[in-house]
Formats: sequence, structure tokens, C-alpha cells
Amino acid sequence: MNSRAETRPLGNVAIRRFGINLLSSFFTPRSRSPRSLTLAFLPILIAPLLSFSQPPPDLIIVNANVRTMDKSKPRAEAVAVKDGRIAAVGKTDEVRKLVGKETKVIDANGKLLLPGFNDAHAHFMAIGNLFSSIDLSEARSEADVIAKLRHFVRFLPKGRWILGGKLDASIALSREKVDAATPEHPVFVFHTDPKTAFANSLAIRSARIDSATRLLDANAIQVMQSVVPKDHVRDWPAIAEAATNYAASFGVTSIQDTHSDDMAAVYRELHRQGKLKTRIYDCISLSNWAKLAAIGIKGGSGDAMIRTGCVKGFYDPEDPETAMLAKNIAGADSAGLQVLIHAIGREANAAVLSAFEKVIAANADRDRRFRIEHAAGIAAGDISRFARSKTIPSMQPILFGGEDDYRKTLDSGVSIAFGADAPMRGFDPLEGIYAAVNAGGKRRITVDEAVYAYTMVAAYAEFQEKEKGSIEVGKQADLVLLSTDIFADKADIRASTVWMTVVNGRIVYENTK
Ligand SMILES: [Zn+2]
Repeated sequence: MNSRAETRPLGNVAIRRFGINLLSSFFTPRSRSPRSLTLAFLPILIAPLLSFSQPPPDLIIVNANVRTMDKSKPRAEAVAVKDGRIAAVGKTDEVRKLVGKETKVIDANGKLLLPGFNDAHAHFMAIGNLFSSIDLSEARSEADVIAKLRHFVRFLPKGRWILGGKLDASIALSREKVDAATPEHPVFVFHTDPKTAFANSLAIRSARIDSATRLLDANAIQVMQSVVPKDHVRDWPAIAEAATNYAASFGVTSIQDTHSDDMAAVYRELHRQGKLKTRIYDCISLSNWAKLAAIGIKGGSGDAMIRTGCVKGFYDPEDPETAMLAKNIAGADSAGLQVLIHAIGREANAAVLSAFEKVIAANADRDRRFRIEHAAGIAAGDISRFARSKTIPSMQPILFGGEDDYRKTLDSGVSIAFGADAPMRGFDPLEGIYAAVNAGGKRRITVDEAVYAYTMVAAYAEFQEKEKGSIEVGKQADLVLLSTDIFADKADIRASTVWMTVVNGRIVYENTK
């Protein structure tokens, strides 16, 4: 701990007081030895401890319009961050007083600061794979091609190839211009007629093709193909890196990977290299639950960045595994794993709820947090069954906003976790919030409720509500700064842009436009 003794006026600001924690530990009966600490000594001990303030924050964000998603203290102006945790939430004047020599100060200029978005249903590697192949079929000019290449370069790890094509051969590309846009990425893209192709200088050099070659013919294409990495679409570390970079650009600081492949080792390695910008809850297939059970993993196991213990199944009468569903849910649940089942439509939702209810009746009482993924098209009469079984509907307004009744679901005492199911349609939480807030008729919910579903409830859905989901002292410092106030009357939610994303107290994305 810091030895600097500071006595700063702290005002009303909520602060993580290491000093106070230390002090209170003297008062807990089990840590107090009557001989070493009698009441007579207390005044002597208290005096130095009270001047023992916490070290200055690493980062403060001031003059922000903070919506904390903490219902006990919903609004604030400023936030301080220390060691990846939120150290203070309060007024700008108060938080400014905490600044030390090393503190980075960000003046938000009134912008909206929210807890980082937590996407409760995503396919992370598929998101990364959006950048494994470029589709230039819609480019009408060289400028279009360059813009698309620049978009890829923003998210791809250095050195990763840009492959793909459907480039209209009538668009003449200047290699110099393409090189300037892609200085660190070899580019090799086919024309609509794949007998010819284009490559940038980096690709040309690695294939040792004559640099005077402008249009790649069949021979040059063959040489080029021999140097393209064979595992390009299975290079999981590179794919995950693109995904985490992309997530940061949307202010998504946590995702729950419902892809059912075990990728935790890849995410851990990426984290070890300091490249992971997204906290990940990595779910595997329900049918493999015994593998996790055998190594003692329970729902929500892991560290602050990568956790496992969730198993995902499908309710689909056409799928032979559905016959095994009840048995697998019961097995996974008794092993302490968290069970997520995909269900769309009234019959599927009702069947999964029945399966959950049976397991709840049969297995020991526990905080199991069953989830139904999508939970689209629930029969109105079945909504209360979510409340009774404490099942979390994990919903995607960007996909089902036209049908779901969010209002009735919330009014029935059911908390909804939001996600996008990217890359199905999109990944942008603001698109999802917009869809939920603009759901037709009486089905709509407020911006506050939609943001809460994308932060606090999503955290709850992965057993992390004490760690993240709101801007509260002691929680993980995951934040997103938005360009405009999406809570304002008649706000154009989709026009707001992410200004900055902070994960674990680190700025992982800044809008440089
Ligand atoms: Zn999905």
C-alpha cells in the first residue's frame, strides 16, 4: 500500500477507503485479541489510521453525465479509477481533489458515461471471423475499396492477411494508395472473375513476385496462394484479437460467448499477452457438461477476465439431442454448472421452462440462474413462469424487437439480459437499445431499463453483479463514454458514438475521428 500520508478533504464522494477497511478489521471480533488491543489503546491506533488515505487514482473522468445503473445513486459527474477498480464516484470538484502526479485526467465535456456494455449472447470467434475475409462486391470506386480496407485494418492484428475479393476488375486500384492504407497487412483479393487478383506490396514481397506486376494472373495467383497462411480461418488467437478490438469499438466490455466451443485457452493466452479488451464468459455445449463437472468447474468459475462453467443447449424438436435435454440439464445442474437453453417460439419456451421446473423440483435448492437464450415469442401466460423459476430471459432486441413484449416481461417481475447475438445481424448495443426503446405499441421499455438490461442484468446473468454492471466504488472499472445523451428526450440513440472504452481501468478504445 502507498506510504504517502494524505489528508484530503473528501466531501460527499464515495471512496474506497483502504484505511477504513483496515480499521474496521480491528473491530471484528475474530481478529481482535483482547490482550493486544484493548479499548484503551484505540485512540492511539485510530489517529494515524485516519490520516492514512488511499493512493491517488490512475485515471479520473470528470464533467461527465454519469448514469451509474446503481439504483441507490443513479447520477454522478465524475469517476476515479485505481488498479482496475472504481475508487470514487461523485461530483467533479470532489473527484478532482484526488488527483495525484500520475493521474490521467479526462474531461468528458458533458458526455454520457455508462458502465461498459455486457453482451449476454455473442459468438465471439464468429465476430472475429468477420475480418477473416473481405467482401468488396459493393465497392463502386477505389475510395470505397480503401475505406473498407481501412475498416479492416482498425481491428486486425498487425501482420494478419486481408483476403477475399469479389472486387470489380474495372475499379483500377493504385498499389501505392492501397499500401498507404495497409502498411502492416498483406492484401490479396480476387476480382469478381477469380482468374485475376490484386495484391499490395507487402503481399507481393512475401510471395517474391516481381513488384512490377500490377494484375495477378493465374501463375502469380498460384504463387501467392502458396504463401497465404494455411490456417487463416482457424487462427483463433488472431481471430479473437480482431473480435476483442471490434467489441471495444462498441463499448462492449464483457461478452458471454454462447458459441459452445471451448475457447477459454485462446482467450487466456490473449490476456497473457495483454491484448484482451473484453471480459469473457465462455460457454460450452450442454452435451459436454460432464467434462467441466469432471474437473470441478461450476457456473461462473474463473478470474476477472475469463470465466467458464456455463453450458448451452438447444431446444429443437428436429434435433436428436433434444431428447437428451432434460437428462443433460439435470446432470449439469446437479454438478453446479449454469445451464442456458436456446428457445424460440411459444412451444419451445414452454418446453424449456417445464424442463427447468422439473429440475428445480428434483435437485437441491441453489442459486442456479437458469437462462433461456432468445426467449422470443413467449406465450403471455408463460412470462410469470420465468419469475417463479428465476429463469433469466437472455434476449436480443436487435433480432426480435419487432415481436418481444419487454414491457410485460419487466412488469411481471422478470429481469431481462440483453445481447446482440452477433454476428447474426449486428453487434452495436445502441442498435439493441434503440430496438427495445422503440418496440411497438405498449411493448417498449425506457432507455434506462434497456441500458440496465445491457449492463446490470447481463452481469447478473453470469453471476457477476457484485463485480460489474454498474459504476460503484469497488467494482471493476469498465466504462463507456458516449458522444451524446441517449437518455435525453427524443434522443437519436443510433447516432450516438462511442468516444472511449475503458476495461479494467485501461483505455482500450478511443474515437480518433
Ligand atoms: Zn446465438
